[in-house]
Amino acid sequence: MGNAQESLPGPDLTKGVGAGEVVQGAALVGHVAGDPVLLTRCDGKVVAVGARCPHYGGPLGEGLIVGDTIRCPWHHAAFSLRTGKRLRPPALGDLPCWETEERDGRVVVLGRRSVPAPPAIRAPVVGAPTSVVIIGGGAAGVVAAQTLREEGYDRPIALIELGPSAPYDRPNLSKDYLAGTASEEWIPLHPPSFYQEQDIELLLNTRVDRIDTAMRRIVLGDGTTRDYGTLLIATGATPVTLDIPNPGQPVHYLRTLADSRALIEASERSQRAVVLGASFIGLEVAASLRARGVEVTVVGPEARPLERVLGAEVGDFVRGLHEAHGVTFRLGQTASAIDAAAVVLQSGERLPADLVIAGIGVRPNIELAQDAGLGIDRGILVDEYLETNVAGIYAAGDVARWPDRHTGERIRVEHWVVAERQGQTAARNMLAGAAGTRERFDTVPFFWSQHYDVTIAYVGHATHWDAITVDGDLSANDCAITYQLAGRQVATATVFRDRVSLSAELAMEERAGSVTH
Ligand SMILES: Cc1cc2nc3c(=O)[nH]c(=O)nc-3n(C[C@H](O)[C@H](O)[C@H](O)COP(=O)(O)OP(=O)(O)OC[C@H]3O[C@@H](n4cnc5c(N)ncnc54)[C@H](O)[C@@H]3O)c2cc1C
Repeated sequence: MGNAQESLPGPDLTKGVGAGEVVQGAALVGHVAGDPVLLTRCDGKVVAVGARCPHYGGPLGEGLIVGDTIRCPWHHAAFSLRTGKRLRPPALGDLPCWETEERDGRVVVLGRRSVPAPPAIRAPVVGAPTSVVIIGGGAAGVVAAQTLREEGYDRPIALIELGPSAPYDRPNLSKDYLAGTASEEWIPLHPPSFYQEQDIELLLNTRVDRIDTAMRRIVLGDGTTRDYGTLLIATGATPVTLDIPNPGQPVHYLRTLADSRALIEASERSQRAVVLGASFIGLEVAASLRARGVEVTVVGPEARPLERVLGAEVGDFVRGLHEAHGVTFRLGQTASAIDAAAVVLQSGERLPADLVIAGIGVRPNIELAQDAGLGIDRGILVDEYLETNVAGIYAAGDVARWPDRHTGERIRVEHWVVAERQGQTAARNMLAGAAGTRERFDTVPFFWSQHYDVTIAYVGHATHWDAITVDGDLSANDCAITYQLAGRQVATATVFRDRVSLSAELAMEERAGSVTH
């Protein structure tokens, strides 16, 4: 993974290619008037779509074709090859399409197909809720709002967000944005006009304080109330705070855009950072601070970073990667005090620090649901359709614990793509009550994490395993690690083997009988 290739790939498709080169199930990438274009066949008919994923520009030609869809190698978005329509987040936009002609043994790409304008008056969805209120303008919330409109829902939607910013790319906050290599305009998920155009009422700086399930009403921080037809709770999670009394300097946490900005500002005045927590956020922050020339020491209680999630092999690899970039580790250690100039470890060692960041986990924001009497068990309990025990109230994203078909257990995960897909499914199910076609949430969990120029992709969910198979060479950045439990593949982590990650995901879907588009 990395940045999209800037030079134009393959042949000029307006000049044509041999018809035999365009094969069903395979992608041929070329270019048309400066745009990379992917050619393939669906039921024998040639189709041409944009070759770059609208999410981060992933090269779709290296993705996986499944039926008449294509999946992006970087973060597993999926698109229809026939229409270019985005089927699965994390992409939030569609692919452009081109007209093609097959004649005299050649395939030629013609002009860009015009996108049909969305109907000014949408077809009403029969029996749909009178209004939808979404609590939380994060990954799950924004995708739910967008999906409702895409599905033709024409009644009021309110997206209520505690923070001051319209929905943004949270994963970037610890990566390129913090490192200084992503510009500010990458961060919002949609331009401000989107909410107006889609008639989504976006309420920022607005806290929902209470849910009155009997009255189907929410109470806002200023005491005003709003009625809802259907409700989605997508309140995400909050960083766990350190249990260290009276720190002698500010301790930074990273969840919001404001947190990331504050960290950037502080890093500009800092020489030595101590990161407390050797998991994903802590390590990504360490990498980004190194890119800013700050010295970094990472402290964590575990013997190896990420070992609990990814195993010893990946843990050692990640540690080596960070050490090669100048990070020092104090593992098997925790902090006992923080003064104005240092972090003091339980061992008594003083680590000089003018910047302290803690990434020691998050807890789901379940209080609203709890106070409203919804079913709770280390998250908000939802069924396979993401509905809570109160009809008409759904939960999605970091807060939701759902019955996962792949593990046979109830799980809650903290992954961007899962939150977005849950937002999509919850939205469809709000409308499906009427149509009677509810959609099970069957997504195989997927996440990625980026350290310098290395991205680790992970599909599946393994809290424990009894065997690990390492295929390839981690030190050469070319590897797939398979986690097995009782002979069954439960997860796969990959480094620069994106196709293996996609194939593993598909295999898990096929095993569960849940290949959906
Ligand atoms: C720095 C960082 C990097 C990450 N990197 C990755 C990554 O690389 N890959 C990956 O898979 N995942 C990553 N994640 C995790 C991912 O961002 C989360 O899993 C995802 O954001 C969850 O989406 P969500 O919609 O459930 O919650 P959120 O995106 O957190 O959105 C919830 C929103 O609800 C709002 N809210 C809460 N309570 C209220 C209330 N009472 N009233 C109104 N609004 C409220 C919050 O302000 C928040 O904006 C990262 C997370 C962080 C913080």
